[in-house]
Amino acid sequence: MKCPNGFNFTKCGHQAYWLSSKNLYICTRCEHQHSLSAGTIMDSSKKPITYWFKAMWWFTTRKAGFNAVNLQELLGFGSYDTAWHWLQKLRRCTIHKEREKLSGNVEVDEFFIGGQKPGKRGRGSNGKTAVAAAVEKKGEKIGRIRLKVIPDCSADSLLPFIDENIEAGSDVFTDGWKGYEPLDENTFHHHKIFQNKADDKDSVLPGVHLVASLVKRMILGTHQGRFDPRYLQNYLDEYVFRFNRRTSKYIGKKFMRITQQIISSTKITWRQIKENTTLNTYPESSLELSG
Ligand SMILES: [Zn+2]
Repeated sequence: MKCPNGFNFTKCGHQAYWLSSKNLYICTRCEHQHSLSAGTIMDSSKKPITYWFKAMWWFTTRKAGFNAVNLQELLGFGSYDTAWHWLQKLRRCTIHKEREKLSGNVEVDEFFIGGQKPGKRGRGSNGKTAVAAAVEKKGEKIGRIRLKVIPDCSADSLLPFIDENIEAGSDVFTDGWKGYEPLDENTFHHHKIFQNKADDKDSVLPGVHLVASLVKRMILGTHQGRFDPRYLQNYLDEYVFRFNRRTSKYIGKKFMRITQQIISSTKITWRQIKENTTLNTYPESSLELSG
């Protein structure tokens, strides 16, 4: 997949190579050494590349979520830290930069993860992270979804999320929250749904509320309710990857998608992962930031 037209990694242009005992591709003319994992998230990994393939396979084919303890056990790693870093790297490869926007009937709402008290929409609330959600409705059924950590529930946070994730001309369903008020009526057909009773939230926007409860369950189940808000977007990306492919009959396709994404990924250090400083330089996020 990395070199569909044959070996062409060398500057000298020579195409003949031999494979070293460490699986390095070595040009027979200039002896330039090339590793298949160079320049990707697998760069500098000391484990054989076959371990990465195993990790990718389990990551993509397990129906339920996947945590670092699972990966550590499956690969027999001595170190939990290594498994944790591998997973963070894989999660960063779940979003395809040119993915199609949602279209048709799309419900949009926000929900909160973490903390003890219910979140307030007006501003960021203590210990809580706000997440914007968009859910395609196909009749009673749910199509594809999008999730994004947002700093607050203001129009400045919500409208860019809608623009970046929903095709112009779509029907956008929201509740009466003022953050959706300025939505461009020339771009979207905006339907405001008002709930009849204060305690009857599920009667409006049922699709997006279902997804919100599934995401919360995922955080509770896979991550035992513990999560660092810094990494929440990675967990959400993984969840969206799984969710949008939940009906796919071909698990091999998911594996292929991850493989493609890893090949086009860039090298990342442990420190960058720990601090998650480069998250916003990743394809989809950079689009979202520039919007
Ligand atoms: Zn060469």
